[in-house]
Amino acid sequence: MTRTSVTAGPSIESLAKNHDALLVLDVDEVVLEFIEPFGQLLEEHGARLHPESFKLTGNVRSISTGAALSGSQLDRVTEILYETQAARQTLVAGVEASLDRLSSRADILFLTAMTPSYYPHRRALLDSKGLHYPMIATERSKGAIVAELSERWPGPLVFADDLPLNLAGVRKSAPAVHLLHLMANTVFRPHLPPLPAGAHAAAEWGEAERIIEGILASAALDSALSV
Ligand SMILES: [Mg+2]
Repeated sequence: MTRTSVTAGPSIESLAKNHDALLVLDVDEVVLEFIEPFGQLLEEHGARLHPESFKLTGNVRSISTGAALSGSQLDRVTEILYETQAARQTLVAGVEASLDRLSSRADILFLTAMTPSYYPHRRALLDSKGLHYPMIATERSKGAIVAELSERWPGPLVFADDLPLNLAGVRKSAPAVHLLHLMANTVFRPHLPPLPAGAHAAAEWGEAERIIEGILASAALDSALSV
């Protein structure tokens, strides 16, 4: 069996470093809409998402039979979405302007758990939207990558993701990193599992930007007051 690379994109050592602060952003549901186009694609395949708990498996059912789609069927739909993402995934509202403003004070890195073989598709999509920030696509744990990043960026570091499990993984591997929950789509919000202690939560990019600005400002004040 041939195994494709577990990571695609620039190496951590090769990333340009212009600031001490770094924003590490998940892509699906943080930068690009995922659940909305995923639901659309399901409908095209005769299935529908019923967000009754915080997961996809078991919550997607055939419209005609009511049978839940299997994990491998869901994986296939996800692959189709990633293959056709340029035509299906749109920017989360406000992300472009917020990142433009924040990029004057922090470096920005996209960290996506998307299958790395779709890296060129996603890179082209983000570039076409003017989001030229570097991206790493990986099947490694995000915690391990953020821990490596924190060796190059003194901080503050902010990690934003829609999945509480990923926030918890980063908390474990890189405890000093500020955590931010952001999930563009609202259908899973009633079922959101608890966030790690001290994690911030934003409902949309305007709120996320204010939270990140607050973190950057308070770190700048701390360093100005330290001798
Ligand atoms: Mg995501």
